[in-house]
Amino acid sequence: MKIAEIYKQNKQSLSFEIFPPKKDSELESIDETLEVLCELKPDFISVTFGAGGGSNRNRTIEIAKNIKTRYGVEPVVHLTSLHYDKSEIDEFAKVLEAEGIENILALRGDRTPKIAEKDDFKHASDLIAYLSEKHDFCFLGACYPECHPESSDKVNDIKGLRRKVEAGASVLISQLFFENEKFFSFVESCRLAGIDVPIIPGIMPVINAAQIRRMLTICNASFPDRFNRIVGKYEDDKEALFDAGMSYALSQVIDLLAGDIPGIHLYTMNNPKVARRICEGIRNIVKKQN
Ligand code: FAD
Repeated sequence: MKIAEIYKQNKQSLSFEIFPPKKDSELESIDETLEVLCELKPDFISVTFGAGGGSNRNRTIEIAKNIKTRYGVEPVVHLTSLHYDKSEIDEFAKVLEAEGIENILALRGDRTPKIAEKDDFKHASDLIAYLSEKHDFCFLGACYPECHPESSDKVNDIKGLRRKVEAGASVLISQLFFENEKFFSFVESCRLAGIDVPIIPGIMPVINAAQIRRMLTICNASFPDRFNRIVGKYEDDKEALFDAGMSYALSQVIDLLAGDIPGIHLYTMNNPKVARRICEGIRNIVKKQN
């Protein structure tokens, strides 16, 4: 099923992001994670794609295939383009089609000095425009409530986003953020700019202080005082940080759902406990929609 169809029904979606394990020894653990995630009946699960591909790229497809055939949940395959040329992207699209994968989160990918950039795709919008001429995928795109780090300002960021939607992105998933007001204000700016596709907030519960500090240097999200206090106070106590981080994320999710957003996308970090805790916290809210 094409993901864009979900948003034609009057219901808020729930979806998860997972990443392929790096080590062969961890491959089995992804099945244990998927067992739990799929029991929670998400509308879709997206699988990340490492820049530069290699074995990670094959694992993305392998895991997506498993999500669809073994668990009956719709997968979304992330696909980056900055480090590939047209023939490599063609080959990848052919495999996705053959495996019955219908949904692609089309990305430019992060710049890294370790991997040479190629010239065919400068932006995610180029990838979407190229693939949509030849294939019938549903395209999702990334968006940034606090601006993409390379954008000079919000106006240019939203202009870039509008090009992505004009190229064919029919659903947007946001970068993580910790202040809902920033998300609501971003959505309003998008609407004023004529971007009218569903914009799904991406939420990452903080369960590990080192992980979150690393994410924040990469992704431009601001750290509100309330959140800073929690991480500062509990960072050395794993269990307390888990509880505090989950409560913070849950309060964000409940506030977002009340704000009539089209769905929630959870960055699970491959930790099924995170997804389970959030699902338990919104069980009665979601039940009322069905
Ligand atoms: P683009 O849409 O190309 O945007 C990059 C910059 O160019 C922005 O400043 C934008 O405003 C501007 N811009 C966009 N289009 C145009 C245009 N047509 N003309 C001029 N300027 C334009 N990375 C991975 O490597 N693997 C993953 O699996 C992955 N998954 C992600 C999932 C989500 C939900 C998000 C939010 C990010 C993910 N990323 C992933 C990170 C992403 O690759 C980086 O943030 C990257 O730097 C930008 O990718 P993009 O697709 O948003 O780029």
